[in-house]
Order: sequence, then C-alpha cells, then structure tokens
Amino acid sequence: MSTNQSTTEVVIHNFNAGPSILPKSVFEEAAAAVLNFNNSGLSILEFGHRTPEFTAVMEEARSLVKELMQLDSDHEVLFLHGGASTQFMQVPMNLLDTKDCAAYTDTGVWGHKALVEAKLFGKVEVVCSSREKNYTFIPKDFAVPNDAKYLHITTNNTIYGTQWQKIPKTSNTLVADMSSDIFSRVLDFNSFDLIYAGAQKNMGPAGVNLVVVNKNILGKIKRAIPTIMDYRNHIKEGSMLNTPPVFAVYVCMLTLRWLKSIGGVAAVEKLNNEKAALLYNAIDDSTLFIGTTAKEDRSKMNVCFVMKDPSLEAAFLKLAESKGIIGIKGHRSVGGFRASLYNALPISSVQALVDTMKAFKEDV
Ligand SMILES: *Cc1c(COP(=O)(O)O)cnc(C)c1O
Repeated sequence: MSTNQSTTEVVIHNFNAGPSILPKSVFEEAAAAVLNFNNSGLSILEFGHRTPEFTAVMEEARSLVKELMQLDSDHEVLFLHGGASTQFMQVPMNLLDTKDCAAYTDTGVWGHKALVEAKLFGKVEVVCSSREKNYTFIPKDFAVPNDAKYLHITTNNTIYGTQWQKIPKTSNTLVADMSSDIFSRVLDFNSFDLIYAGAQKNMGPAGVNLVVVNKNILGKIKRAIPTIMDYRNHIKEGSMLNTPPVFAVYVCMLTLRWLKSIGGVAAVEKLNNEKAALLYNAIDDSTLFIGTTAKEDRSKMNVCFVMKDPSLEAAFLKLAESKGIIGIKGHRSVGGFRASLYNALPISSVQALVDTMKAFKEDV
C-alpha cells in the first residue's frame, strides 16, 4: 500500500524518516511506467539505459537539479549508485591524500560515520562535536585549519533533529551531506564544492545518490582511484559510466518535475516552514510533550520530541496509529518520537498529528 492514500477507514499520514513519503502523483506515474514506459509497450525496468528515451530521462533529471539549485557551470550533477554511506568513502577517496588533513564536524551519527571513513584515506581533524550531549545542538564556535583539504558538514541531522540554520563560512573547500534536507530550503548551493544526498529522504527511492560537485576541486590528489569511484569518469560520461539505477533515477526525475511544478525550492521551503512551526508550536504549548534539541538548531525536516512522562509514550503511539499516523517512533538512540516532515508531506498530516497530541492531552 502506498503512503498518503485513503483506505476504507483512515487516511495514512506517513512520517517515516527514510525511505519516506513522495508525492502521490509521482507514485502513480512511476507505477504506470513500470507497465508501459513512454508508450513504448515496454516497462521502464526492461528498458535500455543507452536508449534516447532513457538518456532523455537522465538529462532531464540532471538539468532539473541544475535549475532548482541554480547551479553555475562549474557544478556538475551526477546520479551515482549506493547510499549516502558510499559517499562517506568516495569523498575522501577523491579529495584527500594520505598525508592531507580534512576537517569534520561531528553533529550526529551520520557525520560521525563519515569522519570514521575519512580516516581510512588521510588525517581527520574533528573541529567541533556535540557527541557528549547526545547531539542535541549544533556547535557554533570552531576553527578550521587553513590547510584542511575540505570541511565536511551534515546540513540536517536526521536522527537527532538538528539542522545548520546558517551554513558556516569557510575559505576551505566545503563538502555537505544533505541527505535529509536536500531541496527543502533555499541555500547558495554554489558555495558548496561537493554536495551529496541519498535519494530516499526527499527525492526518490533508495539506491541512488545525488552528487553535485565543483569540477575544479577534482584531480588534485596522487592516489590512484578505482574507475567507478572517480567522479571525473562519471562527469565525462554524463552520469552513464555504467548502468545507472534506471528506475531510481526515473522516480527522482518525476519528483524534481513535481517540485518545479509547485514553484521550486523557495515555494516548498515556505510550506516546510509552516509545517515545522505548526508542530513545534504544539510541542512548546503542550504540558505533556517536550522537544529534545536546542531551539535555535531545530530541524524543519525531522522533529524530535519526548513525553515528560515516558510511561505514556506507548499509549500515545497507539492512539496515533489508530489515527493513521505512522513512522513517528523515535530513533533508538533518542527514544520518544520523531516526525519527519519531508517535502511531500502535506500540512494536513501535521495537523492530524497536532490534533492527536491535543486529543491525548484531553484523555489524561
Ligand atoms: C539516511 C542518511 C544517511 C545514510 O544514507 P544511506 O543511503 O542509508 O547510506 C547519511 N546521511 C544522512 C544525513 C542521512 O539522513
């Protein structure tokens, strides 16, 4: 059963953290293409990736990324195999020589995993960390060594519900894991030298990474890079070095088309702000619920909260499920609840959650 769809009784409100909700129109178009792609009589799943029809899909996906992010001509767009975790390794493999040092911000489990991988390729300087405080905030004061080959940040910390509100200014090469807030807010995307994102949070199905890379930062290291891992080879081949994850790229393209049709990143950011305000206000006004992160660092994508009396949490979860609200159980390292408010989640779903929080209050 797909998300956000009526069953006979309840509407499903899908707050899953990833894989997560996508627009219903995208599911419908993708489903149709599985049966008959482009009126070809063939499924997208049996279609050659070097055909003009699929090449057009890849080209449209890449050009929509360029348009929606307003990228300059130095920034190349790639759709690569694997999850964001593959990029934890591919980034340092391409940018860091054994004797070099890279600066990492340790603001969550994903950022931590990224820095552990980078240590396999060179030296890592952890320039700030909120690990001791269970990643409940974004550190503000830190210095990046001038000779660091790059600074790595995780723009949104999916598990803990914190987000960099201001991207740190740096003269170093800037690398960002944007897996869970890609296309959710307007940023100066050209100020990043490398952006990567696993698709399954805000863009498409699992199995494909979006990589946006400033081509000028590549080719500066001595290490021999395996062909499939070298970004330059993918750029040269128009993201078709080998068989791309055809269906995943197709669904990303449909989602990007949808995003453009609703007004692009600025328009969706406005909706995301409204959704986040609705839920955070409900948490702050509540006598039962409490947010788990520093207020100024609150994520607009993943809202983490607990109950003041944890013994009530199971009952609230049960009530929520009875109202069609799914995917709000918090990550095991935080507990409580996490509501993910990705681009495709309608505000009516957030309202349903807020109404349920208030209804529960009346019950107690
Ligand atoms: C989900 C997530 C990842 C891991 O993505 P995979 O595709 O499972 O490898 C990495 N970073 C962030 C910020 C995430 O939200």
